[in-house]
Amino acid sequence: TQSTRPQRILGAVQKNATRGDPRSVVRAIDQYCRNQEWAMNVGDEKGCILDSVVSEVNPATVLELGTYCGYSTVRIASLLPPHAKLITLEFNPEFAVIARQVIAWAGLEDKIQLVEGASGDLIPKMKEQFGVETFDLVFLDHWKDRYLPDTKLMEECGLLRKGSVLLADNVICPGTPEYLEFVRSSPRYESQYFKSHLEYTKVEDGMEKSVFLG
Ligand code: SAM
Ligand code: MG
Repeated sequence: TQSTRPQRILGAVQKNATRGDPRSVVRAIDQYCRNQEWAMNVGDEKGCILDSVVSEVNPATVLELGTYCGYSTVRIASLLPPHAKLITLEFNPEFAVIARQVIAWAGLEDKIQLVEGASGDLIPKMKEQFGVETFDLVFLDHWKDRYLPDTKLMEECGLLRKGSVLLADNVICPGTPEYLEFVRSSPRYESQYFKSHLEYTKVEDGMEKSVFLG
């Protein structure tokens, strides 16, 4: 067929999810990706860990690195308190086009700002151009070799405060060894591993939750 995988994921949402019902959007994507075609969404199993961290932190400001089709974006935004804001960064314009439609289908446009561009260029602009003071929660799920440099960049730009929580996906598969070593050994972080599986598979993967201590 001529369509791309993100277009087929959007098709599954339009066919099977109810407009304005974020959970039905999440369910439609999981169902499609579990049964038809694997895709790099955080997925249902690690999604539960993500949900519990979002609920626990109850953040007013969230940064997501790596939007893809907007699956985790919808998942996070649906749990945010009123007036909270989620900024999500995606450098692939074809994915951003799909994610905007998935977000709109979920009815969450008001809570989410999708910014197209590379994390390394956009993080330094968060304060001045996007009016952010600090992030309460950051979900790292973009290319794995960017976790560490972007974390150091967020620190340098003053975007983390004492108590800010970093949640990193795929720390085992594909793996982010330098990042894990950094957050686990740095006295500025208190870090905890949540064992799970790579989305839609039985392969071990997990998420690392790291609290910035300032
Ligand atoms: N968080 C999404 C979810 O769970 O539904 C999945 C994100 S996918 C694993 C990673 C995405 O990050 C890809 O869409 C890729 O284009 C994007 N990406 C990778 N490196 C990036 C960077 N440095 N800046 C912005 N986007 C990036
Ligand atoms: Mg991931």
